[in-house]
Amino acid sequence: MRRLAYVYIFGLLMVALAICGFISYRSKKPIGKRVGLLCFSFIPPALGNMIIVGSITENMALAGSYLYYIGMDIIMLSLIGFTRHYCIFSDGSLTDKRRIPVWLYAMILIDIAQLLLNPIYGHAFSLQKIDLFGTPYFLMVSKIGQAYHRIVCYGIVAVVMAVFIIMCIRVPKIYRERYAVILFSLIVATVWQTVYIFSRMPINRSIIGFAFFAVATFYFSICHRPVHLLDSMLARIVSEMKVAVFLYDPEGRCIWVNRPGRELTKISGRDYERAGDELTGLFGGMEELSERTDHEFTAFSGGKTCYYLVNRGRFFDEEGRVLGSYVNVRDNTAEKQRVEQELFQSNHDMLTGLYTREHLFRKINERLKHDNKADYYIALVDISDFKIVNDVFGKEFGDYALKKVADWIRLYSDESCIYGRLVGDNFGSCLPKKLFIPELINRDLSRFKVKMGNTEQPLMIHVGFCEIGEEDNDVSILFDRARLALSTIKNDYKTHVAFYDRRLRERVRWNQEISSELHTAIEENQIVPFLQPIADRSGNIVGAEALARWIHPKHGFMNPGDFIPLFEENGMIVDLDKHIWKSVCGILKDWKEKHPGLFISVNVSPKDFYLTNVLSDIKSYVEESGINPKDLRIEVTETSMMNDTDMRMKVLEEFRKSGFIVEMDDFGSGFSSLNMLKDMPVDVLKIDMKFLSSSKDNVRANTIVKNIIKLSDDLGILSLTEGVETMEQFDMLSDMGCVLFQGYYFAKPVKLSEFEEMLAAVQGA
Ligand code: C2E
Ligand code: CA
Ligand code: CA
Repeated sequence: MRRLAYVYIFGLLMVALAICGFISYRSKKPIGKRVGLLCFSFIPPALGNMIIVGSITENMALAGSYLYYIGMDIIMLSLIGFTRHYCIFSDGSLTDKRRIPVWLYAMILIDIAQLLLNPIYGHAFSLQKIDLFGTPYFLMVSKIGQAYHRIVCYGIVAVVMAVFIIMCIRVPKIYRERYAVILFSLIVATVWQTVYIFSRMPINRSIIGFAFFAVATFYFSICHRPVHLLDSMLARIVSEMKVAVFLYDPEGRCIWVNRPGRELTKISGRDYERAGDELTGLFGGMEELSERTDHEFTAFSGGKTCYYLVNRGRFFDEEGRVLGSYVNVRDNTAEKQRVEQELFQSNHDMLTGLYTREHLFRKINERLKHDNKADYYIALVDISDFKIVNDVFGKEFGDYALKKVADWIRLYSDESCIYGRLVGDNFGSCLPKKLFIPELINRDLSRFKVKMGNTEQPLMIHVGFCEIGEEDNDVSILFDRARLALSTIKNDYKTHVAFYDRRLRERVRWNQEISSELHTAIEENQIVPFLQPIADRSGNIVGAEALARWIHPKHGFMNPGDFIPLFEENGMIVDLDKHIWKSVCGILKDWKEKHPGLFISVNVSPKDFYLTNVLSDIKSYVEESGINPKDLRIEVTETSMMNDTDMRMKVLEEFRKSGFIVEMDDFGSGFSSLNMLKDMPVDVLKIDMKFLSSSKDNVRANTIVKNIIKLSDDLGILSLTEGVETMEQFDMLSDMGCVLFQGYYFAKPVKLSEFEEMLAAVQGA
C-alpha cells in the first residue's frame, strides 16, 4: 500500500516535471529551453524510480534501475548545460563556454558505458530480493561501478555548486538572489539524496529531492519576478536621479529622501522627517499644489536665485487607497538661465548689445499702451555716408563706430528711454520729452569722432524726431515720420536735429495725394505742356520749351515745382515725361503744316534714364506721329550724365545719329567741368541766367557767361541763354555771341493756344 503511494507520488512528480518542462520550453526567456531540458531530464529517473518501487519481478526492477541510473547521467548533462547558460555573466567570467572541462562529459559518458556493461559483468550493482511490507522488493546492492557513478554525479553537482557559490560571491548584491535560491535547492536535493544513501532505507526516494530542485529551478528562472531585485534597482535609480525625491506615508510624514533631496534640504543621514520639514520651509506646504503638474518656485541660495520645478503626486493600491505620496523637486536654474540667455540673444543686437528692431518695437508698444503718448518722442538716429566709412576704414572700424554711437545713445538716455538698433546704421529710441534737449544733441553730434588705433574719423550723425499722437499706434509709422524729418537735413552739416512737424506732415500728405492722382491726371489731360518761346538774335520765335503744368480740378493751376521734385524722387516722373513727350509730338504733328520748322524742346529727367529706355520711347512717339526728329529737341541735365557716363553719352550720340538735337540744360548749375564739355555729344548749351545773376559780382558773372559762350562757339556748340528777363540782358548776351534766348523778356510759358496766338501775331505783323 505504501509502495503504491510512492508510485503515485512519482507519477505526479513526472506530470509536474513534464508541465514545468513544457512551459519552460515554450517560454520566451533565453534560458527557457535549458530549463525545459533540465525538467524533462528528470522524467526518466523518476520513471525508473517509480518502476523500481512498484516492480514485482526482478526484471522490472532491473529495467527501472538502469533507467534510473542512466537517467541520472542525463540529468548531469542537462545540469551542466543549464549551469553554463544560467551563470554566464556579462563579463563572460566563470562559465565561458570554452572553459567547460571536457573531462566532465567524458566522465558521464564513461559512467553510462559502464552501467550499460553491468548486465554482462555485474560490476555496478545487483538486486537482492527482500520482503518489504509483506511483498517482494528488489533492493539494490552497490558495487564498485556504482561507486564510480556516485563519484561522477557528486563530482558534477559539486562543480555546479561551486560555480553557483562563486557567482553568489562575484555578482552585485542585488543579483545574488538569482543564484542563491538555485544553489539552495541544489543543496537540499543533494542532502536529501545523501540521507537516502546513508540511511540505507530500502525505498529510493531521492528523486523527490531532485524533482524539488527541478521545480524550484523552473520557478525561479521562468516564473519568478525578482521583486526584490526590481525594488532595489528602482531604489537605486531614484537615488541616482538628479531630481530630488521625497516620499511620504499616508499621514504625510516624510519617510525617504534620495541624495539630491538630502542635499537640497541640507540634511545628512536618515533624518528624513526633518528633510520633509526643510522642504516645507523652502516651498511651503505641498498639500495645496495640484497633482502631477510642475509648479515653479524661486529660492535664494548662496547669494543667487535658484529656480525649482516641484511636482507632487500620490500612490494608490488596487482598491484606490492612498499608499503614500511623493514630491519631486527639479533644479531648473540652468534651464531657466539658458532660456533667459536665448531670449536675451534673440532680443538684443549682437554687436551693440541694444534691443533688436522687433524687440524695440514691442517694448515701445507696451510703453505707449500704458503711458501717456504725448509725453514721448520717437527718435531715429542715422549715420550719414556710413557705407563710405565702412568702405574706406574697413568693417572693423565700421563696427567700432556703430558701438560708439550705441554708447552715445546709452549715455544720453536714462532708464525711462527705450532704445535699440533698427538696422545697419539706424538706431531708434522712444524718449520722454523732458530728455529732448536739441542744443545738447547738436553739441554732442557736431563733434562726434571715432578713434580706433591711429584712425580718427568724425561721423556725421543726424537725428529725426517725431511726436506721438493719441491715435498713433503703429511704431513703424512713427519711425517713418522720424526718418522723413531726418531726410530734410540729410546733407546738412550744421544741423543734427530735425523735427517731423505740421509742415512736414502736410508735405507728406500732399505728396501722397498728388502721387495717387497722377495717373488720372494724365488720362484726363489735366497735365499739359505749356510752351515758352525761344528766340533768335533778331527776337524771332524759332521754337519753344515744353514745361509741364497741372491744371488740377481741386488745387487749380500747379507749377512743376509743386510736383516734379516729388515725382523725380519716387520715379513717377517717367509716366509724366512720357505723357509730355507724347503730347509734344502731337503738337509738332499739328504744326507740320501750320508752323513748319519750329522746334519744341522736352525735358528728360535723370531718373528717366534709369527707369525706361528714353531713346526707343521717344523714337517710337516720333515715328508714330510722323514728325521730323530735328523738331523735337532733347534737354538733358548734367546730373543725368553723372552716373553711367559712357552709356548715357552713347544714348545721346544715338539720339543725334537719329536726327535729334540734344541740349545740355542748366549748364553751370551742376558739377560739370568745362573739361567734360568737349566730350559731350550735345548740339546746344543752355546757360541759366538764374545761376549767374545770383552772384553778387555782376562783372565776374558776365565774364563767365561770355567765356562759356565763346568756348561753346569754339567747340561748335550753339549757346542758348535762359532766364533772360530784360532787354539789357538780351543785348549784352547778343553782343557776347549768344545764338538763342529764352526768358520772361520774350514770354512766360503759356498754354498752346496762347503760344499759337503769339505766333499768329508775329506772322501777321
Ligand atoms: P528748366 O528746364 O530749367 O525750365 C526753365 C524754368 O525757368 C521754367 O520753370 C521756366 O518757367 C523758368 N523761366 C523761364 N524764363 C524765366 C525767366 O526769365 N526768369 C525766371 N525767373 N524763370 C524763368 P518751370 O516751368 O517752373 O520749370 C521748373 C523746372 O521743372 C524746369 O526747369 C525743369 O527742370 C522742370 N520741368 C518742367 N517741366 C518738366 C517736364 O515736363 N519734365 C521734366 N522732367 N521736368 C520738367
Ligand atoms: Ca529745361
Ligand atoms: Ca533750364
